[in-house]
Formats: sequence, C-alpha cells, structure tokens
Amino acid sequence: MKNKKLILATHNEGKIKEFEHLLNGFGIEFLNLSSFKIKEEPIEDGNTFSQNAEIKISYYFNKIRDSGIEIGPETYLLSEDSGIEINYLNGAPGIKSARYGGDISSRERNELVLSKLEGVEENNRRARYVCCIKILNLHDQVKMEFTGHLEGYISNESIDGDGFGYDPIFIPLGYNETISKLGYDLKNAISHRSVAVKKMITTIFRNE
Ligand code: IMP
Repeated sequence: MKNKKLILATHNEGKIKEFEHLLNGFGIEFLNLSSFKIKEEPIEDGNTFSQNAEIKISYYFNKIRDSGIEIGPETYLLSEDSGIEINYLNGAPGIKSARYGGDISSRERNELVLSKLEGVEENNRRARYVCCIKILNLHDQVKMEFTGHLEGYISNESIDGDGFGYDPIFIPLGYNETISKLGYDLKNAISHRSVAVKKMITTIFRNE
C-alpha cells in the first residue's frame, strides 16, 4: 500500500519522469504541482543550487498551504535545482542552465555551448552535472538536503535520443557516448539526480 505522498515541486517533465522512476518501489504516491493547480514559478535569484532549491521549496510550500487542499500525514514536498558546470566556461551555465542563452530551445542552447567550445581539445571540455534536492516533511516540518554530481565532458556534436536538456552533448567520464545515446536506464543508474536520490532514500525512505 502507498502510505507516503511526495509532491514533486517542478514543472520540468524530464525531472518528474526521472524522479518517479528512481523512487519506484518505495510505496510512494506521487503528486505534482498541477494537483494543486499551481502554474507559476518563483524567480530563482539565488547564488547557488542550494539557495535556488530553498527558494523553490519555500515558494511552493506557501502556495500549497494557501490552496487550502487537505494534506494527509506522511506527505513530503521535494524541490530540486540542477544544472551543468563547464570548466572551459568558468563554471557556466551553472545555476543559469535552464535559461542559458535566453529564451531559446534546448537544441539551440546545446548548439550555443558547442559553438563556444569549438576547437577546444577534449581535456579542456570537462563538465559536471550537479543536483541539489531539498525535501520537507509537511507534517513535522523537518527539511533535509541531498546533493549529487556526475562528472563528464562536452561532446563535439549534439546527439538526439533519451533524456532532456544538455543530455545530447554530455558524455559521462568512462563512456564514449552522450547521455542521450547511452539511454534512460544508464542515466538513471549514474546521474547526479540518481546519486542525490539514493542518499535521500537511505535517509528517509529506507525502511519502506
Ligand atoms: P532548474 O529547473 O532551474 O533546476 O534547471 C535545471 C536545468 O539544468 C534544466 O533545465 C537543464 O537545462 C539542466 N539539467 C539539469 N539536469 C539535467 C539532466 O539530467 N540532463 C540534462 N540537463 C539537465
């Protein structure tokens, strides 16, 4: 029986799919922001992934409380801030990963990154995915933070396939293909999100 509820405080369908997959089998019922008719997003003006995850969790906590919808026991709210840091770009896009290059498509964003790294040798294309999760127990208000990283480098071309965001141009260390080519199962085994979620499971959901 599903006795825990987890509200995924994100509008990003790629993230929702991955969280549901990574937390499958732990007796968790998933809710998302549309269950609370929340369409808005906060302004993410923090300086770190952790600060932006905090901005999101407090924003959505207030929205959910204001919705007046009854929250049962054992309900958690999860926010996440993530992105990619590229050494050659001094850590950019970093916390601006979702908006890097302005209001353009993911494909255009990836092309922009590839153009900035044109002619750069492989050993200078190092990058990492970063994920910071905040999870709040809505019953006792205890909040925890978990982080995960995935080291890799930027490919020379964009390869379509599984995943979202920068997956078509990110090659994890130890592999020769981009995440989008390596596929969904491999990504969920090694990703920054998977590392953070595994820490969270060990701490919060381990006895389920
Ligand atoms: P956020 O929703 O403000 O946390 O933005 C995160 C952004 O970082 C996403 O929109 C993607 O551009 C990028 N990102 C985060 N995680 C991943 C991932 O697993 N694959 C590819 N891109 C990612």
